[in-house]
Amino acid sequence: MNILLQQITHALSDEQVLAGYDKVAELYPHTPSLLMCRAWEYAAYQDRELPQPVLDVGCGDGRWFQFVWPEITDVSGLDMEPEAIKRALESGVYRKVWQADAASMPVDAGIFATVFANSSLEHMDNIHTVLTNIERVLRPDGLFIFSIFNDEIAKWFVPATLARAQGEDALAYRLYNEWLGYHHLVNPLSIENWCAALVDAGFEVLEHIPILPEMSGRLFLLLDSLWHIQQDAGELGDWLQPYLQTVPGFPMASRGILQSALAMESNRSVGCGAVLVAKKKSCDGEVVQNPNRSCWCDNSRLISFSAHYLACTNCGTLVSQAGLGPDQIPVRDDSSDFYGREYWFSYQREHLGLPNIAQRARLDLPERCLYWLRTLLTYKLPPARTLELGSSHGAFVGLLRNAGFEATGLELSPWVVDFARQTFDIPMLHGPIEEQHLPEQSFDVIVLNDVLEHLSDPLTTIKHCVALLKPEGLLLIQTPCYPEPKTYTELVRKDDPFLKMLREDEHLYLFSQRAVRCLLEPLGLSVLEFKSALFPYDMYVVVSRQPVLQYTEDQITASLMASPSGHLVQALLDKACETDQIRTQLAISEADRAARLELINRLDQQLQASEADRAARLAVIEDLKAKLDAGAAVHSTRATTASFAVRWLRSVARLFQRRKARR
Ligand SMILES: [Zn+2]
Repeated sequence: MNILLQQITHALSDEQVLAGYDKVAELYPHTPSLLMCRAWEYAAYQDRELPQPVLDVGCGDGRWFQFVWPEITDVSGLDMEPEAIKRALESGVYRKVWQADAASMPVDAGIFATVFANSSLEHMDNIHTVLTNIERVLRPDGLFIFSIFNDEIAKWFVPATLARAQGEDALAYRLYNEWLGYHHLVNPLSIENWCAALVDAGFEVLEHIPILPEMSGRLFLLLDSLWHIQQDAGELGDWLQPYLQTVPGFPMASRGILQSALAMESNRSVGCGAVLVAKKKSCDGEVVQNPNRSCWCDNSRLISFSAHYLACTNCGTLVSQAGLGPDQIPVRDDSSDFYGREYWFSYQREHLGLPNIAQRARLDLPERCLYWLRTLLTYKLPPARTLELGSSHGAFVGLLRNAGFEATGLELSPWVVDFARQTFDIPMLHGPIEEQHLPEQSFDVIVLNDVLEHLSDPLTTIKHCVALLKPEGLLLIQTPCYPEPKTYTELVRKDDPFLKMLREDEHLYLFSQRAVRCLLEPLGLSVLEFKSALFPYDMYVVVSRQPVLQYTEDQITASLMASPSGHLVQALLDKACETDQIRTQLAISEADRAARLELINRLDQQLQASEADRAARLAVIEDLKAKLDAGAAVHSTRATTASFAVRWLRSVARLFQRRKARR
């Protein structure tokens, strides 16, 4: 058990468990296995207040919920089984009952203060989707309390222990798996993995209360496996229960058995079941006082995110607390200012591991420039007036001009402006867009590729761009995409590619899709189409004031083939398309190769295991033969007891096998 789990583990005392038993005996007086298990659960739930409204996932007939939380009135239920739903509705416990799979529950987001699930999650397929859905329907800070079984059951399942003691490993395996199958127990995860799955789904785990530690657990598992043995017209429990009703003082006698088991418990911090209490992670964390930089949306209520970034409580943008001030962004001196000449040489190489601008002018053309052109051509055909902010070496502007667009670039550094003019023979503007004297409504398209995140005042810059756009004009934006609401820890645990974008010196604002909407929609840019970006950490969004039409491949080709340089561009696009196809084929073939290799490795392992097994069996045969040759006269008397136990276990297995899984 890891240290974090130890810190949140709270073991139940004898008194709590026995008080739970006394209470639960009112409900199930003559079902010993259920009594053993529910006594622990009841004890773990006692003295807790559940904020309302509550959702009971896997609610069954509602009897248990009403028994545990009689004072709660605002509760809804969810279950898959029509018969359970019918009885739940009749019980009057629930305001509403949904008949649905918890992995796809038709419940609105953020409406419940608590979700409760008693012994239901371990039976559900797609558990990770189920947990994500539960997180979704909870309010921020909402409580999630539930009981589950875990992988300790494999160690403590008594029928399997007995079979193994008789050297019947295969039988032990079969007994255990048939018991799992009977209960449709598909998620016997370790307690650590239950906690990890909760964290993955956006929860903070607050408490782990082990239930059914070893002795109580073994007792419960033995009683439960016997109770469900198939008889001709039902289960063993069906005739045992009426019989137990005739045994005077049965519940008290059974309490004594539980008490004895409790007296023998040596480690209460591990159980074969648990009640876990978790909280939906809040988006309202601790507000940081006096942040160095407020959000672009003018909100200064920012909460901590990572060492150098805070998150805006209003729009979700990550705001760098380091980085350049507004007066450090323009380039006045190319030899010393941040975005001067060296930014394109030593800084790109040393800090970003990228080739220098001269190499990039060649490398970017058949890669990102073609991706951007293909996207643009889908929405706008040449000729059209196009401006690219932060056009760097100018390759994309050059490509646009060859495609037939009237394209211009813009850069902050005089040196880069000159480099782009010389390299691609293109018109370039120098300085921030706010300082340019350009007529309003004069551009069809304005492109900002990898620019938005560098701006010190993105709202003002975008307002300028919007003023320059014709009414039907388009904004094309590529910027890193913060996968809101993931925390920094979650990103680190998943090794998320977005982590590479946390470059506090340059990336002053990192937008999520929601943050981009917050930025653009108030400016009248109501149409946002998010395209799949070229890089996994980016978003690419096509923005307009009015609905946009898309051109077909044929229309795009006809437009390009109308000019000599357009022919060259079309040929480049054809090659890019061919490369994409080859990449896809390669990926398919690689996946196939890996799958075949895995199969070979698996078969090889099986072969080795089977060889080892064969050798072991041979050794046993030879050993037995030797014993037989020696004439073991005492053999028959000793064998009687062993074969009786095996016969008994085999009959248990046969009985299990006849039983079909209920769920
Ligand atoms: Zn904001």
